[in-house]
Amino acid sequence: MKSAIVLGAGIVGVATAIHLQRRGWTVALIDRKEPGRETSYGNAGIIQSEALRPHPMPHGWDELAKIATGQTNDVRYRLSALPHHLGPLLRYWWHSFPARHARVSAVYAQIIACAAPEHEHLIREAGAANLIRRNGYRVLHRDQAAFEADVAAADALREAYGVKFGIMTSSDLQQAEPSLVDTGIGGLHWLEPWTASDPGELVSAYARLFTRLGGCILRGDARSLSEINGGGWSVATNDGRIEAEAAVVALGPWSPGLLKRFGYRFPMVRKRGYHRHYADGSRLDLPLHDAANGYVLAPMTKGMRIATGAELAAPGGKPDVTQLTRAEQAARKLLDLGRPVELEPWLGTRPCMPDMLPVLGRAPRQRGLWLHFGHGAQGFTLGPTTGRLVAELMSGEKPFVDISPYCPERY
Ligand SMILES: Cc1cc2nc3c(=O)[nH]c(=O)nc-3n(C[C@H](O)[C@H](O)[C@H](O)COP(=O)(O)OP(=O)(O)OC[C@H]3O[C@@H](n4cnc5c(N)ncnc54)[C@H](O)[C@@H]3O)c2cc1C
Repeated sequence: MKSAIVLGAGIVGVATAIHLQRRGWTVALIDRKEPGRETSYGNAGIIQSEALRPHPMPHGWDELAKIATGQTNDVRYRLSALPHHLGPLLRYWWHSFPARHARVSAVYAQIIACAAPEHEHLIREAGAANLIRRNGYRVLHRDQAAFEADVAAADALREAYGVKFGIMTSSDLQQAEPSLVDTGIGGLHWLEPWTASDPGELVSAYARLFTRLGGCILRGDARSLSEINGGGWSVATNDGRIEAEAAVVALGPWSPGLLKRFGYRFPMVRKRGYHRHYADGSRLDLPLHDAANGYVLAPMTKGMRIATGAELAAPGGKPDVTQLTRAEQAARKLLDLGRPVELEPWLGTRPCMPDMLPVLGRAPRQRGLWLHFGHGAQGFTLGPTTGRLVAELMSGEKPFVDISPYCPERY
């Protein structure tokens, strides 16, 4: 029987572990925390079947000027952090030219299209349907030009991929979400995405499915990973050292750090995000993206969750809650938000690769080492799909989509 150690129990590692276990592997899933307690816990919880084109880096001078002068809440940077980001950002900028972005999107659309069906298998087997809504999410606009641009982009997606959305007037929004006291000039309703009321709990439910299938979850530090002379991999856990034929690095934003030890330099654009819950106020029915203010307001088990846009911070840099504060001020004008639940906001990092595609495949220089990370702003969406792809690849099956664009060698 083949054996594997999967390092990292976020959505990506848990899904990989399940798909390997199903294919007859003996799998140990290792994390220093409970499953689904980092990035996969803190996101906006949207299974984004409409995100068929990954986020490019803005190229327009007006957008860049807004970022540079701090006029947008979508993206924020600290000058002192820029040297850490310069290399990956330049590559991201290069890949974001329209023709290159179109090529990347054509590839990306193939895996996004599988995202909801792949989650569906797991949701059903894990008995987690109570955590999922299948009614989409909404976008609120305040600026006519931005609204029209959004509709034009949505129309293009409808033509290319048959994506379904509705255009909402301000009074449509008011009717759909009576607790909103401001509905801007209306917005869009993406009809097909699914939303989770507790993303971390969904990952926990998948992790319980993995153990029911016979998998084993252990606490341990991935940094103890070492190659065994003569073949195989070993890692230290709280229950002692364990060994397996293969190891999968699924450590999300921590993956490049570990891989340096094995001689790899993966460039990553680290887009930090924050969230905080608010309770005892009004509640929305569906998540709402406030486009002009760059945040998502999502109804979650713990309350209304505000999830912020991207901050380019230095690794380990101090939290800067400017975006969250601005988002909270804007949200308080939309509805009665209530009181913050947590004393301190949560923060995490979207692990984005410069070409906007995750890394999936065999490590080029070590036998039995597999790489699976870099899902950027859609990892919660994509984990089950790419988990299946990596498990197919490791098991010698033909992956159900062409995975050559995701190969680690491109870096
Ligand atoms: C604010 C925000 C909003 C987002 N919204 C969405 C959304 O709506 N939809 C969407 O699809 N995506 C969204 N994302 C992106 C998504 O959350 C990530 O792409 C995804 O969670 C990445 O999953 P992962 O499993 O790769 O990483 P993680 O969930 O971070 O998992 C990595 C795991 O590795 C473990 N680990 C790290 N180092 C070690 C070590 N040394 N030893 C042992 N274990 C270790 C961690 O504890 C962690 O459990 C959002 C992200 C943010 C920040």
